[in-house]
Amino acid sequence: MTISPDLNAAGFDTLGLAKPLLQALADVGYETPSPIQAACIPVLLAGHDLLGEAQTGTGKTAAFALPLLQKIDLKRAVPQALILTPTRELAIQVAEALQKYAHHMPGFHVLPIYGGQSMVVQLRALSRGTHVIVGTPGRVMDHLERKSLVLNNLQTLVLDEADEMLRMGFIDDVKWILEHTPAERQTALFSATMPDAIRRVAREHLREPQEIKIRSATSTVVATSQSYCQTHTGQKLEALTRILEVEDDFDAALIFVRTKTATVELADKLEARGYSVAALNGDLTQGLREQVIERLKAGTIDIVVATDVAARGLDVARVSHVINYDVPYDTEAYVHRIGRTGRAGRTGRAILFLAPREMYMLKLIERATKQKITALTMPTPGEVANRRVAQFTQQIVDIIKTEKLDFFFDVVRRMEGEQDIAAREIAAALAWLATRERPLQMPGANDHAPRDAAPAPAAVSPAPTPARDTERKPARASTKPPEGHADAEPRRERPVKEGRSDTPVKQRTFAPGTLARYRIEIGRNQGVLPKEIVGAIANEAGIAGKDIGQINLFDDYSSVELPAGLSDDLMDILRRIRVRQFALKTRVMEPGEFVDTRPPRRAPPARDSKKPDWKKPAGAKPEWKKRT
Ligand code: AMP
Repeated sequence: MTISPDLNAAGFDTLGLAKPLLQALADVGYETPSPIQAACIPVLLAGHDLLGEAQTGTGKTAAFALPLLQKIDLKRAVPQALILTPTRELAIQVAEALQKYAHHMPGFHVLPIYGGQSMVVQLRALSRGTHVIVGTPGRVMDHLERKSLVLNNLQTLVLDEADEMLRMGFIDDVKWILEHTPAERQTALFSATMPDAIRRVAREHLREPQEIKIRSATSTVVATSQSYCQTHTGQKLEALTRILEVEDDFDAALIFVRTKTATVELADKLEARGYSVAALNGDLTQGLREQVIERLKAGTIDIVVATDVAARGLDVARVSHVINYDVPYDTEAYVHRIGRTGRAGRTGRAILFLAPREMYMLKLIERATKQKITALTMPTPGEVANRRVAQFTQQIVDIIKTEKLDFFFDVVRRMEGEQDIAAREIAAALAWLATRERPLQMPGANDHAPRDAAPAPAAVSPAPTPARDTERKPARASTKPPEGHADAEPRRERPVKEGRSDTPVKQRTFAPGTLARYRIEIGRNQGVLPKEIVGAIANEAGIAGKDIGQINLFDDYSSVELPAGLSDDLMDILRRIRVRQFALKTRVMEPGEFVDTRPPRRAPPARDSKKPDWKKPAGAKPEWKKRT
């Protein structure tokens, strides 16, 4: 059977899988079966042998693992399934996948065994009993010969990456193992290619196997310029954000990931870096899904992080970029994805992230799209800084061209005269002020360091990322002049203190009196430290450390004691102070809003015991820190 990806595929629950497995799939956030899973799972559950032509990355591990797990009798800790893999890395990876899918199968045990690992350790582990063995052929053979591994109860045998085992010279070991396992077992053989030697093994050792192959995509010429970036998983996020910064003609991006969980995780991370972004996945109701698309169309968000299924049919003309953050299962899914850009006669741009082991996809996609995919390297901090400076310069040029600046000429002239500061210095200070939330410099890029640029106060804006809750497009700062200067990015332009960060605001004095509790919208989850809060409040609002009382960190907010009855002006400053990119949005806590759950060292603040006064969701525990 040759199959092609069916983007309308039903969910896992239609494939005949048992509840504990469906639960585990929901836990890991898989939304729909990949094409190879949709095709293989029913065949394997029905007990047929299988010959599958599939590469790594297609989801083939779950395709054989789930049916195999369904047949495990947990009460018998004897090997009921054996999976042979060419390398120890793959053995470990497959064992980990099995453990993950068997999360709701209490007592389940899988054991990887491979050459290079101590025999003593393996013998001990084998003697303890296990349900599934994942191993490399040589070591499995060793154990069979020593009788430390007995396969009398084997129901399922899987040969994973058979062509690799052939290439690495394991084929005779594999045949030997096949001959020493019960004849009535079910056998599944997966291979990226089907050379004759593998077909021969299949003919001799598989019983009327069903053949399943992912159809290679029909060639499609696409009007989208395509690039790829080879990167290790740990660097992907950094690479993504830097690429978004330097990409030309960025308007909006659709980012594809594999799981529902990943849509939310990546959207959160991008949001924390200042992007206006939303997740789109199968958990959203139709109404919410439409809302996300409408917001993308309207420009209130610039990035949508989606799974393939959730983005099905999405047609938004302003999507200039499709980012394949996780590699698609196959070339057809890729072609579907990149079809979401280059709409309405515009040219689109597609970027593909590939881990070194996924590089094989490149040739396949080039063949399928009949286009060269150019290599893209992660932009350096210097390149990002250059781009920020270029965008900033363009903004200034545009403003000079289009805005009436007479009043401001006057202001500058007055400053020059009264303060004896050169216009160049005033301009530099203004540039600093205008870009403080998205500094022109990146860490590690010194090429644009202003002569005596003061470092941004650590507690106020440590990261070189755009502000979290501005509507400004971080990936592509608009070069359009602001409409009406007074309204132009008011929160960014209006300083919360006069002067530069190394010129502290004048310290305020407070008459001795009571402290009140204020709520600020940053907490443990944002990684804030009490000393950062104190530093920011002291530096930005001029409230001395001695006037700042106890600070309590909760998950997403904190409480801080400050003098009671602060003036509106001071509250305004406190509201707008940013710590780690988050505006504090300071406000007085309602009576009873604060609950002291610490072991009592002193009397907790009075509160109305009848009123539910704990506003945090259950389980959110505050963290008590002694302020230093
Ligand atoms: P494999 O081809 O088995 O190596 O799988 C490649 C990657 O795809 C692994 O990271 C899996 O966790 C992931 N994966 C497998 N099946 C699905 C699915 N149905 N939905 C989302 N991700 C999946």
